[in-house]
Amino acid sequence: MNAQIQTVTGAVAVDAIQLADGHEHVWIQPADGVGEDARIELNDYPRIRQELASFKAAGGTLLVDCQPGNAGRDTRQLRRLSAETGVLITATTGAHQRKYYPPDSWLWSASVDEAAGYFISELTKGTRESLTEESGVEPVRAAIIKIGYEGVIEGQTQVLMEAAAVASRQTGASILFHTEMGRNVEALIPFFENHGVPPQRLYMCHVDKRPDVGLHRELARAGVLLGYDTFGRPKYDPDHNVWQLIPALVADGLAHGMAVCLDFAFPSMWRSFGGEPGLTFIQSSILPRLAQIGLDAATIKRLTAQNVANRLAWMR
Ligand SMILES: [Zn+2]
Repeated sequence: MNAQIQTVTGAVAVDAIQLADGHEHVWIQPADGVGEDARIELNDYPRIRQELASFKAAGGTLLVDCQPGNAGRDTRQLRRLSAETGVLITATTGAHQRKYYPPDSWLWSASVDEAAGYFISELTKGTRESLTEESGVEPVRAAIIKIGYEGVIEGQTQVLMEAAAVASRQTGASILFHTEMGRNVEALIPFFENHGVPPQRLYMCHVDKRPDVGLHRELARAGVLLGYDTFGRPKYDPDHNVWQLIPALVADGLAHGMAVCLDFAFPSMWRSFGGEPGLTFIQSSILPRLAQIGLDAATIKRLTAQNVANRLAWMR
């Protein structure tokens, strides 16, 4: 198989991915008019570059940036950071939760056709902000479609989900979900199957905050990729939750259904901002522990590189 991933600096082979953080935030410049509770700023270029360089030096190859357009993303910064550090980055189209957008955001009154057209254009032609650059500069194309899902499929969320399904069917791109601690993720499989998108194109994030092993088995068995990101978050008791889910699913032959993620959107989690534990937490803590619980090298590589790389590659 010669599958490729569309990164912010161009296409790379899936096999080139050795170590990936499957859900990350590399740059966030909150849009004007966003409420205080949703204003996350991650926009100090030299510090971000420093952290990415550390990730790269410790063997990291790919960061999956999960900030969609109009919600703080700037793919021009992502491209420059990738070019200067050698860390591969993928960009996201789609939509986050409503709170990350200004009150008058067009996306939140768009029709299915308008939203689908926008997602497809960002995947195939280039992200809006990168298309505004002078000619001669290659636009940045998104790799995946995000949907912010709070647990109920209704209203504009449903419109955006239908648009994501159209864009996924047309391009072969996967759909990544922000979930509210896994709330009602069961509803996603039938909804997307009804809209022509199989579970093999779905990637559900933050689901280890709902550590129901029976549910995780069912989703992984159906073909969903589960994004786990509570490793560095004591409040979710990772020892008794995510670190129990992983061996249970591996024992059931479901190692293809999990991806290791950090989701460090706050500068307080980045070492270059004086925080802890930093983006190299995968290398310093998660990788050794995956080996310590008895996973072989091939399984570890699935969880920390191949599964997310395969989901980023487009498949129709
Ligand atoms: Zn996130």
